[in-house]
Amino acid sequence: MRRISIFGATGSVGANGVDLIRRAGGPAAYHTVALTGGRNIARLARMARDLRAEIAVTAHPELLDELRDALSGSGVEAAAGPQALIDAAQRPADWVLSAIVGAAGLVPGLTALAQGSILALANKESLVCAGPLLRHAAQASGATILPVDSEHSAIFQALGQDNLESVKDVTITASGGAFRDWPLERLAAATVAEASTHPNWAMGQRITIDSASMFNKAMEVIEAKEFFGLRPDQIRVLVHPESIIHAMVSHVDGGTIAHLGAPDMRHAIGYALNWPARAPLPVAPLDLAALGSLTFRAPDEHRWPALRLAREVMAAGGMAGAVFNAAKEQALDDFIAGRIGFTRMAPRVEMTLQALSARAGFGDDPVDLDTVLHWDREARKETAA
Ligand code: NDP
Repeated sequence: MRRISIFGATGSVGANGVDLIRRAGGPAAYHTVALTGGRNIARLARMARDLRAEIAVTAHPELLDELRDALSGSGVEAAAGPQALIDAAQRPADWVLSAIVGAAGLVPGLTALAQGSILALANKESLVCAGPLLRHAAQASGATILPVDSEHSAIFQALGQDNLESVKDVTITASGGAFRDWPLERLAAATVAEASTHPNWAMGQRITIDSASMFNKAMEVIEAKEFFGLRPDQIRVLVHPESIIHAMVSHVDGGTIAHLGAPDMRHAIGYALNWPARAPLPVAPLDLAALGSLTFRAPDEHRWPALRLAREVMAAGGMAGAVFNAAKEQALDDFIAGRIGFTRMAPRVEMTLQALSARAGFGDDPVDLDTVLHWDREARKETAA
């Protein structure tokens, strides 16, 4: 029986992964090794009981007793804390869904790759801050990394067997998020609640706010460079309010292959789960006649300065990705906590990039985890409001 683990099971992507496993037959179809979560202990325990997981892990040591109580009599082991997450990632598994939010997903993902597992990667932060480390870890153990971000899954599927040399460029679509049609002068006063709604996708709060600021798309552009080995000038962003086309691959011969589907993460997660085969998934069929039209517009970099920053980060190389991600995470924390306004996030990230670059330069691509974690800490300190 195939062994699976889900890191970040209690979140939006993780719960969609659990849903797919459950619909496939749960413990009758898959052996669940580890499920991990953060603060949502009741949900984690319920999932671990349902799937009869070997172990459930919360990232927070102070919640261990609560998790133990919630699992009592189930036969599921309980553990807590960062080291417990690493231990869980060391348990042999054939397929691991990396769906923790933020740079906290990096170490468990690297650990799973070292075991040779297939890593279904939703945690784009790992690729942005340490793409070369992930690639080296996969090469060393023979592990496979599959994209779960819908745009990258779409590129992966549209590429098929095609050689990268035949690719002219790729286009990643963006819905434009909550403030796509707001007058620019209103953005400074946008509230956390307003930024936490998405026109098309149901996602965790952080990525939803990152969609409104386009930091999410900026991260995805860097993710595409790291994942597919594309040049920065080969990656384009197109605003597509309906979120039906997820990405397009344009070839040197003038042909473009687009990937379409309803905005439902279970397609990309299920594609990675069943890969290289395809199997039916609980995703609404596409009804283009009912939709009537699909619309597109060029991204406006005054509204979304994060897109310009992504290009600067790719041009800088070295540790710029780790700094960008950490500064973005800190600025987002500060916005959510009410310490800075919505339009202050991008300038703070830009100031951190400039300050750290001026101090030490961004150096070469990361060769070890300690270097990445060092730059991550420095960037958070520099950005904090
Ligand atoms: P959520 O916020 O919904 O879930 C995050 C998960 O990570 C939860 O299980 C949470 O636990 C756990 N978690 C939070 N902090 C920590 C920590 N410090 N250590 C360990 N675990 C932690 O996020 P999403 O599901 O929206 O996103 C997850 C990842 O997938 C992100 O990288 C995001 O960019 C990416 N992604 C998400 C998409 C989506 O549709 N949501 C689409 C494409 C990519 P708990 O909730 O129990 O506290």
